Amino acid sequence: MSSCDEECCHGDGRDTPLTEMYGSNAFSNAMMRERLPVNIYREVVAVQNGEKELSPQVADVVATAMRDWAVEKGATHYTHWFHPLTGLTAEKHDAFISPTGDGRILLEFSGKELIKGEPDASSFPSGGLRATFEARGYTAWDVTSPAFLKQDKTGVTLCIPTAFISYYGHALDKKVPLLKSIDALSKQAIRVLRALGNETSKRVFPTVGPEQEYFLVEKEFYDRRPDLMLTGRTVFGALPAKGQELEDHYFGAIKERVADFMRELNYELWKVGIPAKTQHNEVAPNQFEIAPIYSNSSTAVDANQLVMETLHSVASRHGLEALIHEKPFAGVNGSGKHNNWSVSTDDGVNLFDPGENPESNARFLLFATAVVEAVDRYALLLRSSAATAANEFRLGANEAPPAIISIFFGGALTEIFDNIAEGKSSGKSAANSQIKIGVTSLPALPKDVSDRNRTSPFAFTGNKFEFRMVGSSQSIATPNTYLNVALAEVLSGYADKLEALPAGSGKNEAIQSIIRESYKAHKKVVFNGNGYAEEWLREAERRGLPNIKSAPDALQVLSRSETIALFERHGVFSREECESRCHIYLEKYSKQVNIEAGVTIDLVQRYIFPVATSAAASFAGDAAALASVGANNTAPAKRAKKIADISGELYDETAKLEAVLAEAQALEEPFAQAKAYAGKVKPAMEAVRLRADALEKIVPKNEWPFPGYEELLFKL
Ligand code: ADP
Ligand code: MG
Repeated sequence: MSSCDEECCHGDGRDTPLTEMYGSNAFSNAMMRERLPVNIYREVVAVQNGEKELSPQVADVVATAMRDWAVEKGATHYTHWFHPLTGLTAEKHDAFISPTGDGRILLEFSGKELIKGEPDASSFPSGGLRATFEARGYTAWDVTSPAFLKQDKTGVTLCIPTAFISYYGHALDKKVPLLKSIDALSKQAIRVLRALGNETSKRVFPTVGPEQEYFLVEKEFYDRRPDLMLTGRTVFGALPAKGQELEDHYFGAIKERVADFMRELNYELWKVGIPAKTQHNEVAPNQFEIAPIYSNSSTAVDANQLVMETLHSVASRHGLEALIHEKPFAGVNGSGKHNNWSVSTDDGVNLFDPGENPESNARFLLFATAVVEAVDRYALLLRSSAATAANEFRLGANEAPPAIISIFFGGALTEIFDNIAEGKSSGKSAANSQIKIGVTSLPALPKDVSDRNRTSPFAFTGNKFEFRMVGSSQSIATPNTYLNVALAEVLSGYADKLEALPAGSGKNEAIQSIIRESYKAHKKVVFNGNGYAEEWLREAERRGLPNIKSAPDALQVLSRSETIALFERHGVFSREECESRCHIYLEKYSKQVNIEAGVTIDLVQRYIFPVATSAAASFAGDAAALASVGANNTAPAKRAKKIADISGELYDETAKLEAVLAEAQALEEPFAQAKAYAGKVKPAMEAVRLRADALEKIVPKNEWPFPGYEELLFKL
């Protein structure tokens, strides 16, 4: 690919060989190894591994190298890129320039500027953690996630992933708790590994591969849907005669227009070092998925934020709009984000990999049991990590996955656990002969057991767990933080027991007994059946598993003393931080529903009523005209009446919505307010929608004020 005629030059790097282009816009470890003196590079790696603090001298050298690299690539500005509690990413740009005093400039970027920024924090949610007079917030470089260049028509900016904290050191973002949870998990997992006889691993780190779902719609249609623009979803829309029932979209041939979009999306992601790997059509019409190869979780969290941003920017260059909302369209599938999660040691052992010998089998069974216990004990917390207004349309509605947390292991593995727990051997199958930890080799487990159950919210898929409740538009930082802490807590209990064993006493027996006791106590959370079936709801209830449908109820767990104690014990959140987050999430829920209700009312008043009234009048006029010539056609009169009748109902329901909305707005206590939005405002919106959608079905198509579902879902 040395020469290149004009046609192949896309100007986006597509004419460069892939291996050269990949990561060219990321200041990755490979780039640092190339550009930093070897001793400095080693220092940075030690800081990444949590072995050292970053010294100002090292920071200065890294900053200079980073600046030179960025400027060579055309950057004029840098920004500390962070994740405030809005769930989005934030950036404040500074130019590299520094005046020399004689009318010229130098390009400057010091270690201090790399390590620490001072954006005004007062306009970000803090949940009362920051008094208004103390607006200061600080961003601090997250050495574990590579800096990258954002490149668009307007120029190039160096983006430095950072953590965001208040003047008093409270976390104001989603990154700080994530990093703390990784440390907590590492600490406890290493204790367990040491007790198992591992002397070599120094750290463990969670790995994450998120599968991102999204819809694409024609920009032209999007621009004519104020509801999509303001809320990310359609608050109205009658289902067309065809939905997803033919199952013809999932894994279907990708249309050229979409393929072209996906190709550019991949290139943009590859340039910043995001290993976008898999893409396909999803279940609903115009729904798609992109999945990168997994990486350590702090990088994966940042990368996923960038994937979402890039989806939007590339779509707009293709005359499209990417919808990342969890439920843009009623009546067809919503979008989630399967959070594939595992835990690895720094010397390359995946702790959720069953392995091939009795020793690795024992380790796997112990860590997998710990996950069962963690998921059972912290089911409410995990449920709360996916509790947003948008995701509420998926969880607990008639849609995947259910709001009940359960784990899927598949038959073979479940049999093995049951067998260990009961200490029995029926001899029916290999898995059923008695397993002796540290002695028996596990039978080979079929890897493809995993995907046979798409209905489980938490599925073991061969060597990782897939948490499927997470919503498509959410940051994955919080779900991963909770997973890490929950597992850390269980492992610390295991480590206490193992460390208390007298030297030389039966380690394998101790492990066997931990697995047996823990699995017995928590196996109620293991469920291999159909998570969508009615009978599962009853069975789950019988097992005592919580089924929390509403997001505000799910968020309450954050204010419970045992949750706060858990976070405090592992140094992830203080009481204030935990309580403030509960506040922020509840408020965010209320604000979101409030906006949707406002948009609903607005669209009814300003768009739907006028159209429906004139359609009814026009049919009535037709009826009169036909009657005047003695025609025997009552259809126009019937249609006029039907439209007018439904319009009347629409008017009444809208008035009711206005009333309950005003009541909810008047409430001050965040939980009570969110409950009012969930329990009163949302059903009132539904009642309005029912009438509006009925009107859409009978008002002449060319008079309806919005593009319909058939355009949004089927045209591309
Ligand atoms: P599926 O879930 O559809 O079967 P894959 O098994 O290929 O698909 O994986 C889906 C995602 O899981 C990918 O992003 C992949 O990189 C990620 N993944 C694979 N192994 C791990 C792991 N050990 N830790 C975290 N994520 C992983
Ligand atoms: Mg998957």
